[in-house]
Amino acid sequence: MTLVEKTLLAHQLLNDQYGIQAIYGYKDPMHELVGTILSHRTTHDNEVTAYRTMRERFPTWEAVRDAPLPDLIDAIKTANYPEVKAPYIQQLLTVLIAERGEANIDFLADLSTEEAMQWLNRLPGIGPKTSTLLLLFSFHKPVLPVDTHVYRVTQRIGVIGPKVSAGKAHDLLLAALPADAVELFNFHKHFYWHGQRTCTWYTPKCSECVLAPHCDYLKSGKTLILSSTPSRKK
Ligand code: SF4
Repeated sequence: MTLVEKTLLAHQLLNDQYGIQAIYGYKDPMHELVGTILSHRTTHDNEVTAYRTMRERFPTWEAVRDAPLPDLIDAIKTANYPEVKAPYIQQLLTVLIAERGEANIDFLADLSTEEAMQWLNRLPGIGPKTSTLLLLFSFHKPVLPVDTHVYRVTQRIGVIGPKVSAGKAHDLLLAALPADAVELFNFHKHFYWHGQRTCTWYTPKCSECVLAPHCDYLKSGKTLILSSTPSRKK
């Protein structure tokens, strides 16, 4: 079986397990963009609370931009690392409002995927993970967010090599999958859920995993050294 065939097989097996979802996300692309920054290394509930508190205290994006930094940090404190995220949010809004005259990114719908990625990736605090999440969830563009779960599971089953970086994994997986936003959304969601629920960092539940017959990590006796997997706790 080629790596492309294996990628498509794993995609199908998880489609069967979790079911096909229509693309969903926040209605407002600005919510998706700032929410994605808030969501890094925190739970969904903490992200939602941080976003809601921020918008209650600072109802306009201009007010968020101009808020005293300690006040904004306090407003988003339920999201981890608020002291890192708050300056990024303010820098992002400063650039966005200066360039576009308002905090509105609806125009990205009219750009090509490449143009939209380039435009987003030069903004403060925005990297490939945030830009692919935004472009896929809000604008239904055919990109693939590769977060820690997607990276780990695809590397363990062996469709991504042991030394491949997360950035390179994005390109390899994208080339193997149909260039279709719904397919890519489902691939992302299903591998994300599988990494959260079954193929967890320290104790993957291989006995209940539908990918087990095709998993290089399991076949190796879980001895493969993978760049996506942290060293085990002593
Ligand atoms: S068999 Fe185990 S290591 Fe392989 S994908 Fe499934 S849970 Fe992860």
